[in-house]
Amino acid sequence: MKNANLLLLIAVLLPPSALDILGEVIDERTYLTPYGEAGPLALRQLSSELAVWVQPYTGLPTRTDPRATIFAARQLGVERIFNWDMGIAINPVLQRGQPVIIDDYIGWTHHQSDTFFSDAHTGLDINYGSVRSPFCPEMGAAIQQLLPGLPEAIAVGVDFLRRETRAEARMFRSWGADVLSYNLAPEVSLAQEMKMCYAGLVTISGYAADRAQPAPMGEVRASLSTTVQMLPAFVEIVSQTHHCSCGA
Ligand SMILES: [Zn+2]
Repeated sequence: MKNANLLLLIAVLLPPSALDILGEVIDERTYLTPYGEAGPLALRQLSSELAVWVQPYTGLPTRTDPRATIFAARQLGVERIFNWDMGIAINPVLQRGQPVIIDDYIGWTHHQSDTFFSDAHTGLDINYGSVRSPFCPEMGAAIQQLLPGLPEAIAVGVDFLRRETRAEARMFRSWGADVLSYNLAPEVSLAQEMKMCYAGLVTISGYAADRAQPAPMGEVRASLSTTVQMLPAFVEIVSQTHHCSCGA
């Protein structure tokens, strides 16, 4: 069997059996890193040729140090991370249940200054911090191929300590942000430091505090189900992508 080099960080709420679509669990690990414990990560066998790491992920303030997540992924041989998150719509054109591809972000979490660069044991080259796209165009294209017409969005990464105020929602919008996300930053910049590809997909689960708050109509559940259906094909396409223009 080939090495699994893709990790799905799943930060959306799914029925327990939903991920069985990715094949049976053939390995499960909890990984102890210098930054604390990461996991459990499940290795799922999609086909005789292909396996994928899957990790349930949450932005609760009690969560693992994001560095532990990225460090563990690197140790397991992961080269690409697909982060699927739920988020709050700041841009008024976005509706609940809409998935968006993240193509840029604003880091606004208290973890945002987290870095591996201060730790000599990671052996990172400090000069690597060049300016490039934080999100992988090839993985973005694979998502577009499977879910055509998805809008690209700018996320602002915040901590899940409390909901935004109306004033904050207006401020984030004035900064050009489309969605609030709790699980994307600083993971994306940490992955970049580790020379891993990163892609972010956010399913809109609610509206910012300065907007009307209509009652849910089941549109999030329906949308999550559609996205789950495309995951096996996504893993296949990404496994056949050997070179990335993102430089990872
Ligand atoms: Zn890439």
